[in-house]
Amino acid sequence: MDLHQVKIGVLGGGQLGKMLAQSASRLGLHLRILDSDKQFPAGIVCRDFLEGDFRGFDDVLFFGEGCDVITIEIEDVNLDALKILESKGKKIFPQPSVIEIIKDKSVQKTFYQEHQIPTAEFNIYEGKAEILNAIESGDIAIPFVQKAALGGYDGRGVQVVNCVEELELLMDTKSVIEPKVNIDKELAVIVSRDVDGNMKSFPMVEMAFDPQANLVNYLFCPSHCTEKQQNDATVIAENLASRLGIVGLLAVEMFLDDDGNILVNEAAPRPHNSGHHTIEACVTSQYEQHLRAILGLPLGETTLKSASVMVNLLGEAGYTGKARYQGFAECLELSGVYPHIYGKEITKPNRKMGHVTICDEKLKVALQKANFIKENLKVIS
Ligand code: ADP
Repeated sequence: MDLHQVKIGVLGGGQLGKMLAQSASRLGLHLRILDSDKQFPAGIVCRDFLEGDFRGFDDVLFFGEGCDVITIEIEDVNLDALKILESKGKKIFPQPSVIEIIKDKSVQKTFYQEHQIPTAEFNIYEGKAEILNAIESGDIAIPFVQKAALGGYDGRGVQVVNCVEELELLMDTKSVIEPKVNIDKELAVIVSRDVDGNMKSFPMVEMAFDPQANLVNYLFCPSHCTEKQQNDATVIAENLASRLGIVGLLAVEMFLDDDGNILVNEAAPRPHNSGHHTIEACVTSQYEQHLRAILGLPLGETTLKSASVMVNLLGEAGYTGKARYQGFAECLELSGVYPHIYGKEITKPNRKMGHVTICDEKLKVALQKANFIKENLKVIS
């Protein structure tokens, strides 16, 4: 079939779907998106948008029947429908079997353990009562981190418990419990893997976290790590991609702990927040790379063209309502600054409303500009 006739279905129409659609549009590829509202970010740039529920069996089946290749921008999709579509010969990348492993953090962590992927120790509990019992009997030591097995996203579904008083914050749901790691650095490597198992990884990024929102504040590339640490992290990420047998992108978030160990925190089988900067900073963007991988095209060069910083634009605290972008023009006075406004109508505190990538020959200069942007560009209502 002619590549430009292929209908590429995407489950999810948020910002990742939007940027995937922008990339597809440049290449003249046909993308169809399924999400519940055409007003979502991807609806702005993708004409072929079907309103429906990507968690619903009937909607995913119906949508998938009309596509040739199906991919995702979120893991929380209807897997039963995807498995049926796969058995009928539809190409689904990442494969439903891979989504199934990653979607549930307890399955994901067990997979790491079984495949000797370095990760923090953990145990799985069915709910709050079981966790409290395990604390009582000494099986869980405070401080620890609770991660909801299902449905966590953007820091929701993760609860750090530092002291006894914080036990009241425990979520009553099936959870992975792991010791609180003494994190020196948070890192991410995005691997692309094609149908034949060829892999190309993007240069590692380092993330600076906002502990209050539990969200990435900004990230930068190249990281401050040694070359050996970067190589080691890339080997771990590629090993995980091979073990999973994934086709498409795998974003692997890792911790470098105080003792210098690299531990896999979690992985996402799709384009990822930690790869937004690749649009302007790398020879091939993560979005184009994902399309290349799932369509059987040659994987693109992933080299970094310049140092870069990516700042997430989060809804300002205290504002809920129709979004306005204060300080936008001032930020555009700086060179090498690329704002991406996702087009969400309503802002809420900490909602991801956009991001800004800053490219400069020198990382130090890019970080200075990023600070200016963080201080001056605000999403208010
Ligand atoms: P999400 O799925 O919401 O992205 P993560 O598993 O990435 O959740 O956790 C969010 C953040 O919580 C991490 O980036 C890290 O800052 C912190 N965190 C997660 N696990 C641990 C841990 N074991 N020890 C210390 N901090 C952790």
